[in-house]
Amino acid sequence: MGRYDVLVIGGGIVGLTAAIASAGQNARVLIVDAGINAGSNANAGSLHVQLQSRFIRLYPDQAPNVEASLPLYLQAVREWERLDALFGSFDLVRKGGLMLAEGEDQLRFLEMKARREEARGLSVEILDRRQLDALAPWLGPQIMGAELCRDEGKLNPLAANVRLRAEARRLGVEFLSDQVVSLHVDGAVVRAKGQGGQVHAAKQAVVAAAWGSGPLLKGWGPPVPSRAEPLHMNITEPGEVRINHLIQHAERSITLKQFGTGQIVIGGGWAAHDRGNASVPSVLAASMLGNVALAARLVPSISRLRVLRTWAGMNTTVDGKTVIGRLPAAPNIIVAVPGDAGYTLGPLVGRAAAEIAAGQPPSFEIANYGPSRFAA
Ligand SMILES: Cc1cc2nc3c(=O)[nH]c(=O)nc-3n(C[C@H](O)[C@H](O)[C@H](O)COP(=O)(O)OP(=O)(O)OC[C@H]3O[C@@H](n4cnc5c(N)ncnc54)[C@H](O)[C@@H]3O)c2cc1C
Repeated sequence: MGRYDVLVIGGGIVGLTAAIASAGQNARVLIVDAGINAGSNANAGSLHVQLQSRFIRLYPDQAPNVEASLPLYLQAVREWERLDALFGSFDLVRKGGLMLAEGEDQLRFLEMKARREEARGLSVEILDRRQLDALAPWLGPQIMGAELCRDEGKLNPLAANVRLRAEARRLGVEFLSDQVVSLHVDGAVVRAKGQGGQVHAAKQAVVAAAWGSGPLLKGWGPPVPSRAEPLHMNITEPGEVRINHLIQHAERSITLKQFGTGQIVIGGGWAAHDRGNASVPSVLAASMLGNVALAARLVPSISRLRVLRTWAGMNTTVDGKTVIGRLPAAPNIIVAVPGDAGYTLGPLVGRAAAEIAAGQPPSFEIANYGPSRFAA
């Protein structure tokens, strides 16, 4: 029998919160993490709830999966608020998100989207320019209106990650740097073989390895089609403007928000240069220029700010929907890969993984999110 109750493979937001929830119930937990390309260390800190236009445009086939998951995003943001109250501050602000329209067509698109989101329980409203001026007077003159989703928010992922790691350590979670190359089940023990041949054993394993999950689970049932997606980010020096909302666009890829420091974080899905999963993606000049130029068009006053840092990070996509549940072929292995906007969903998915490991009913109905759906 392994020394650990739960072996968590992948130490991003999902693995970390799964470990905290398990250790909080007195489980002995080991996190084994490859230490490369965690989206959780590179992300923008947007708490997404409304359907992202970027996702609808890039992955139209997957958009119905995201739409069906909308109630999960609401629950996920509440989970973030719970963690912020317990272990924060994460600089979490939940004043809503604005998706901007620069033309009539975009406004019609947002109206249609809002109706679909309302049907899923989201609190959304279409604002005209006059109403928008009361909330966001700093927007460019060409903005005609916006969809306000009151459920959205933002946080500082660097602060959240540091505080959650500290909490995991306080609860006795152990961390080990290694890349798991294969999984073996031996009765009631899961053995995970590391790159250098070391074997990590536990009664149960949670695979929270994002882009690494598909390759690791090969041969354990229907393939989990996890894909790495290198993305670009920027952060400016502090600005005097006060932006409370998460800002997005009806047609173009962008997220824009302001941290408590006054700095503007600009991202939202611009590509970075893929150098393979074992290397950090590199920045593309065209993405940096395009991303900040769009930001400055939407909020002209920030065009005077200097960009302090740009970086690239690895996002993971599957089919738009979270993958969570025990492997039918090996019930002591639990898969936990969040759907689109995985940092938002991460703590809810991590908590559900811990609940499943403990034999408790998960915080949300997981029937539609299991790994066996890929058999179809
Ligand atoms: C630039 C960028 C901006 C983003 N912005 C947002 C945002 O604003 N809001 C939002 O909700 N989401 C955002 N995302 C998405 C979000 O960051 C990810 O979906 C989320 O962090 C995934 O968390 P995770 O715990 O599943 O995996 P990750 O944080 O990706 O961690 C997975 C870990 O598993 C490890 N691993 C992989 N394979 C193995 C293996 N075989 N053995 C051991 N370890 C392994 C990796 O090294 C990594 O450390 C963004 C992503 C990027 C890249």
